[in-house]
Amino acid sequence: MQPLQPLYPLILEPVWLPAVIIFVFGAAVGSFLNVVIHRVPNEQSIVFPNSACPKCSAAIKPYDNIPVLSWLILGGKCRNCKAPISVRYPAVELLNALLWLSAFWFFGLNAFLPVALIFLTVTVVLVFIDAEHMILPNVITYPFVIFAILVRVAFPLMAGNSYFPDTFSYPISELAGQSPVLVSLAGALLGALAGGGILWAIGAAWKRLRGVDAMGLGDVKMMLGYGALLGWRLAFLAIFIAAFAGAVAGVGMILIKRDRNFQAQIPFGIFLGIGSVAALFFGETIISWYLGQFAY
Ligand SMILES: [Zn+2]
Repeated sequence: MQPLQPLYPLILEPVWLPAVIIFVFGAAVGSFLNVVIHRVPNEQSIVFPNSACPKCSAAIKPYDNIPVLSWLILGGKCRNCKAPISVRYPAVELLNALLWLSAFWFFGLNAFLPVALIFLTVTVVLVFIDAEHMILPNVITYPFVIFAILVRVAFPLMAGNSYFPDTFSYPISELAGQSPVLVSLAGALLGALAGGGILWAIGAAWKRLRGVDAMGLGDVKMMLGYGALLGWRLAFLAIFIAAFAGAVAGVGMILIKRDRNFQAQIPFGIFLGIGSVAALFFGETIISWYLGQFAY
């Protein structure tokens, strides 16, 4: 997804105004993500009831629910019972705000920006749920597959295929001249196979060799949707970065904990999330640089 000519100078000037708005909305959505991360794994409603302190059950007042700031003002403690509030809450809010701001920085105000914001938001949710509960819930991964397919059907009709560089690279480029929707869907299918298919094959091979489940199907379902959106090249790159980051973290855990059974303890979804975000932002640059190494 190469950065296209941003449209913002035409729409809003100066540029810091949309940047501030996107940052604030990113933090507000991050506040809602904390609810999602806390409740979805327990199969609770994300709408009712309103947020309350998990310790004393006191309802959280709107003025104590300002992203990041309230946590700082309250010194990380419940106003009522002074029980500590996890640093995860402001961290998720700040992280989502920074990722949204980065998306605006990389892509500008254009048709792809909402897609990038949803991609990043879902990634934050999946990474934090996987870190805490070691699952990637179907209620998030399945709808994301549908979202990815809808985007790849809608974009050729609305905004063209220029936002999806996989459609111009081999082997999808062989379909040049076909209907843009068909080309885009072929890209999505190959991307889903590259993302989910590769992970599934590695897991199946590992199971045959070692007789243990190396990977949950949640990882496969996550990368089906991510691959469909990113295309096969960025999906491969995301998995490569994830495996590398996971291996570094695994070695680190062996050194720190002196525990050799670390495989079962590392939720791989965390690293797939990191790899996918890196691929979204830097993938095309990394691939161009890599291919440039072979050019004469
Ligand atoms: Zn309390």
